[in-house]
Amino acid sequence: MKDMLKGKVALVTGASRGIGRAIALALAENGAAVAVNYSSSESSALEVAELIRKNGGKAEIFKAGINIETEVEEMFSAIEKSLGPVDILVNNAGITKDNLLMRMKTDEWDSVIDVNLKGTFLCTRRAVRGMMKNRYGKIINISSVVGFTGNAGQFNYSAAKAGVIGMTKTAALEFASRGIRVNAVAPGFVETDMTASLPDDVKTTYMEKIPLKSLGRPEDIANAVVYLASPLSDYMTGQTLHLNGGMYLQ
Ligand code: NAP
Repeated sequence: MKDMLKGKVALVTGASRGIGRAIALALAENGAAVAVNYSSSESSALEVAELIRKNGGKAEIFKAGINIETEVEEMFSAIEKSLGPVDILVNNAGITKDNLLMRMKTDEWDSVIDVNLKGTFLCTRRAVRGMMKNRYGKIINISSVVGFTGNAGQFNYSAAKAGVIGMTKTAALEFASRGIRVNAVAPGFVETDMTASLPDDVKTTYMEKIPLKSLGRPEDIANAVVYLASPLSDYMTGQTLHLNGGMYLQ
């Protein structure tokens, strides 16, 4: 099973840290050549690529703000030149700018929508170009449990993450006839830089809501992404895998 993704090229956005890092490592471990995207953490991105190469895999780093059209275009051209066309796109990069709605500044709204939604739009639109030619592709979008439940203080982020689900379903419908599968993963509370800054009382409140009584690890999310990237999930499109320790049951 370790060469399940052999011959495939995967782009993971925001792969320098957290969940994206774990996804990049897991895809490489299963044989994919990985394009490690980052926006500012160059040394962390380099570390991910070096770790993959040390383990016998193939990886390169690519700097691009996923919300900036010209940078996305340049990144895809560079990946195609050095690794080949992208077969697997993981739209992982995301940011939060939390505030209660009454106090939320317009730029807190704009930046979260820009990175989480526009970034996913730009990368998906560019990636399907090559995938349509190959009549094959896997797109995996990282949403969040709060896109389903809402969360006080995350008006912008929950809107973006619910939006990602709409994008997943629409892209699944538009590209199914071309052999492109589009699915989403909705993590609960995962231990990364994004959640590290939350006050202890907020973390305790979250923990009380998780039936499995533990926070998620980036690797838990990466395992689901490997499944969605692999032929094991070929009959699945437009769906969401919920990985949250049971805190949201449908
Ligand atoms: P993180 O630790 O804060 O890492 C964010 C990553 O996104 C970094 O690699 C960062 O790159 C990259 N990034 C940010 N803005 C970017 C941009 N404009 N262009 C390109 N890359 C950009 O976040 P995380 O916790 O791993 O979250 C990863 C994804 O999972 C996000 O979509 C997040 O919303 C989602 N999620 C997380 C949780 C959780 O509990 N952690 C739960 C549900 C969903 P640099 O290092 O270069 O800044």
